[in-house]
Amino acid sequence: MTSKDDVSNLQASNAQNEMLARFFRAASDGDVGTIRRTSGLFNSVDIDERNSNSWSALMLASRNGHKETVDHLLNSGADSTLMNKSGQTARQIASFWNHDSVVATIDKFLSPKSKTRLEHVNYFGTNSADRQSYRRKDVEYVESLKCQKSTKYIVFSDLQLFRSNDNRRPSIRFLSYDQVKDILANANHDIIYIGNGCITGNDTAVESEASNTAYFAVNLKDINEEKFPSESLKGEFIGKGYAPTLMLLPKEEAGVVAQARSVLAWHDRYRFCPTCGTETNIAESGYKRICKDADCRSHQGVHNTCFPRIDPVAIVLVISSDGKKCLLGRQRRFPPRMYSCLAGFMEPGESIEDAARREVFEESGVKVGRLEYHSSQPWPFPGQLMIGLIGHAITDDIEVDQVELEDAKWFTKVEVAEALAAGFKRSEGLIVPPKHAIAHQLQKSWVQMSSNL
Ligand SMILES: [Zn+2]
Repeated sequence: MTSKDDVSNLQASNAQNEMLARFFRAASDGDVGTIRRTSGLFNSVDIDERNSNSWSALMLASRNGHKETVDHLLNSGADSTLMNKSGQTARQIASFWNHDSVVATIDKFLSPKSKTRLEHVNYFGTNSADRQSYRRKDVEYVESLKCQKSTKYIVFSDLQLFRSNDNRRPSIRFLSYDQVKDILANANHDIIYIGNGCITGNDTAVESEASNTAYFAVNLKDINEEKFPSESLKGEFIGKGYAPTLMLLPKEEAGVVAQARSVLAWHDRYRFCPTCGTETNIAESGYKRICKDADCRSHQGVHNTCFPRIDPVAIVLVISSDGKKCLLGRQRRFPPRMYSCLAGFMEPGESIEDAARREVFEESGVKVGRLEYHSSQPWPFPGQLMIGLIGHAITDDIEVDQVELEDAKWFTKVEVAEALAAGFKRSEGLIVPPKHAIAHQLQKSWVQMSSNL
């Protein structure tokens, strides 16, 4: 039996497949007009959609040397870091086929900062605000910024971000001083100074302005629709201590959210002095807490209890001794079939390298020799710093610590490359964390180490 719904679903799915086929053909042929008609905000094809060989439109256009098409796709938001099943990005494909003008177009599109900033920048790591840490003690200066017309507020409620309610383009919903002044006047909410700059995301409700906008972040307590009219302010609160909802923001906004959320979470948890238990006051524009007891030991000498915490985590992609496989593990709380890099909190008095070797050995029984630094990632849940490393195994036998992990295995480059290309919603086979996670980037960099088409 086939219901009317089944028939219309089938028709819709055929139409979608037809649209996708036209989109990929247009990318291969360099037909920008058809790409415009089939993709974009108001059409159904996602610009980063993959064909059956996991090639994106950007890869197809790059393969065939269509410079204008590549330019259009990049300007429409196509992700130049995606890889096909063989581990190649669009730039590598263009370079392999000697399409120098396409390579130049992709390079030009990368932010100006990338010319001088050669390291890999992870999600939550892109923060264009100048923190102005040297001005935080200048109360008069910071107070004067709070009420300026151009100043923008990033608002949290119980550490949930106030975000635009346009689900097609989730973005921070920045508010002006006029929009928050009554709310801030009525209670003792935590306010921190973020810095100066120009954070460009999707919030079209905000006028564009000069690059010297001041940003503040505030964590509201005990609010309701009457005290804070979310709907008329065109937003909603998201991300209750949970990473995925905050990973839908534009990359340009993620860094400032990491800064704001980590510092506000610290204020939320450190209201009393860790030295004597007395209440503390917020100071230095939100980057210090001072004990109210004048006789407290924390007022003398160096006391790191007064400053926001950062908890370092070593995260390692371990390569087998023959270089052909990598070690991934899964925790019980992971979605089915998902494996990731091994990681653990560093301990006091421990080097990053020793922490990495210890965690890998404790969890998997594999001994690691040489280690190389890859990149780092702020992780604001609540204040971790992920330190990403590539490790070279000196033993290959696995003995899983069942308390920490459910399983750990060696995976081939092909298995990992396919999982990276297939995405997080893959219906079978290995699943790896999404591209926003540093684990994904570590795996990707290993797959790319010695790839060929
Ligand atoms: Zn104290």
